[in-house]
Amino acid sequence: MSEHAAIHDIAHLGGIELLTPEPERSLWYFRDVLGMEVVHAAGPSVYLRGYGDRAASTFKLTHADAPGVGCISWRAASAAALERRAAALMAAGLGEGWSNGDFGRGRSFRFRDPDGHSMALYYEELAYEAPTELRSALKNQPQRYTGRGVGVRRTDHLALMAHDVSANRRFAQELLGFQLREQVIFDDGRQEIGSWMSPNAIHHQLAYVADLDGGHGRLHHVSLWVDNREDVLRAADILTENGIFIEAGPSKHNNSQGFYLYSYEPGGNRVEIYSGSYLVLAPDWQPVIWNEQERGSGTYWGAPLPETFLKYATPTVAAKK
Ligand code: FE
Repeated sequence: MSEHAAIHDIAHLGGIELLTPEPERSLWYFRDVLGMEVVHAAGPSVYLRGYGDRAASTFKLTHADAPGVGCISWRAASAAALERRAAALMAAGLGEGWSNGDFGRGRSFRFRDPDGHSMALYYEELAYEAPTELRSALKNQPQRYTGRGVGVRRTDHLALMAHDVSANRRFAQELLGFQLREQVIFDDGRQEIGSWMSPNAIHHQLAYVADLDGGHGRLHHVSLWVDNREDVLRAADILTENGIFIEAGPSKHNNSQGFYLYSYEPGGNRVEIYSGSYLVLAPDWQPVIWNEQERGSGTYWGAPLPETFLKYATPTVAAKK
């Protein structure tokens, strides 16, 4: 077992803040088209959740000048684990300090990854309590299934662009304790194109992919889970009927075996509707490494991913200040 995977101080991805220059239209996309629930609003931000999320909120939309990712939050495994990770991040020079926490969360430690993405760690979390009209008939469900739009169950993972994938992957392994699941390494081991990692059994909750345009702190995509592949096909119909641009899919990745559908939400951010994939339970998992030839088109079947999939990220380099 690698010593990195043995840290076990982070339990799971807690939430993603997405920045949008089109707050009303982005809200329409996530609430009405994808079927997420609005739970809170404060200042420039609206807080949402998937019907299967335990926490009060797992997704935050914030009005901003340009699209991109805001703060990415991770839930620590315990109060002691939070203190341990905060101390390690501070010692590494990446810490930014403590706050009282965002909506639904207790004391939080802010930090940045080496590429500059904003992140936070917290332990105390407010579990969702559904209002009467959203209460499930079953006591083990946090909310009833509303059947609105795509009906995404939960926030699953995100992929960040990084100027130096290796440095950011090492940060996630060594400071956050994530287990490395799969990698794409081109040119006889000289260039790390992408690395997929997780703090738990979900195949990946964080990926870093090479920022070919030399940007920093950019977002490749956020990903929302549906329970089966038929739901991904249905999502493609719903997105098309609502005039949403579909960039790729529905199809299946070779890496992760994820069944994907990529669209751009009205603010410009790439959003994946995702299912399938596989779980990893082994403590001694050995990373699967794909070379350029094995990686191929990035897909398991059918048409290759379009050129935009490799290049487009938010904010665009021109918009990045
Ligand atoms: Fe993904």
